Amino acid sequence: MPDTPHLLARPWAYSAFPVAVRARRALSPHFLRLTFGGETLRHFAPWGADQRIKLVLPLPGGGLADFGLLAEPTPHPSDWYARWKALPVDERNVLRTYTPAAIRPEAGEIDVDFYLHSPEGPASRWARTAEIGETLVITGPDARNGWTGYGIHWQPPALGTFLLVADETAIPAVRNIAAALPGSRSSRSAMPPTTSPCRRWATRSTCASSAAARQRRPSARGARRRSITPGWPGSRVW
Ligand SMILES: Cc1cc2nc3c(=O)[nH]c(=O)nc-3n(C[C@H](O)[C@H](O)[C@H](O)COP(=O)(O)OP(=O)(O)OC[C@H]3O[C@@H](n4cnc5c(N)ncnc54)[C@H](O)[C@@H]3O)c2cc1C
Repeated sequence: MPDTPHLLARPWAYSAFPVAVRARRALSPHFLRLTFGGETLRHFAPWGADQRIKLVLPLPGGGLADFGLLAEPTPHPSDWYARWKALPVDERNVLRTYTPAAIRPEAGEIDVDFYLHSPEGPASRWARTAEIGETLVITGPDARNGWTGYGIHWQPPALGTFLLVADETAIPAVRNIAAALPGSRSSRSAMPPTTSPCRRWATRSTCASSAAARQRRPSARGARRRSITPGWPGSRVW
């Protein structure tokens, strides 16, 4: 809980962090890691797991439209989001949701792993061509607000085994979760068959790349669950 007037002065659990692209690294043909840096990221709350953030991408010519996002302290979304929505579509910055792959407040840095969709959307296209020094804004939890847990869905029960099922875009979240599991916990992750970085990333979990994880028909659900949870009755699925 915030316990100083300074903390109470922040009207919302998320703040806006102006950042610039500091580094880019291809992790695989379809995954690109961008490192974002900015002084204010020293206040970013490093909760990890499936922490949700928003990227406010630069306008095509660069920059941020004036919808009040960078006021200090960051206004409540009912203010800035309403102003953003009132702008003509081609004058609005694109907003997309991502998961920090790593958070280093002491260095003022965040890594984000982008799955490069095909066909591309605005965020995949921007990431693929982003240049070092390009500026954008990240909205995310602010350590000055204390713990709020806002934007985290992973709230595991105390005991049990876990089955983590993910498409490509959730690999950063699954990897964070698997890496944070205590040694006594067990997890199994079902990843898309085209993607196998989980073998490298998920040190404490078992990775089962399974074509069954792609099937969407309701009739295939039982078979899918059996095929990715052999010997794991009672697994909690996330
Ligand atoms: C809580 C949360 C966390 C996320 N974390 C990450 C992350 O760390 N890394 C990451 O790459 N993505 C993540 N995503 C998904 C991310 O929001 C989408 O990848 C993003 O919308 C792509 O934007 P775009 O402009 O490139 O594509 P869009 O304009 O949104 O869509 C373009 C193309 O991509 C396809 N597409 C878009 N989103 C998805 C999806 N989720 N699954 C499959 N196909 C999709 C569309 O069908 C279309 O073909 C996360 C989403 C949520 C809700």
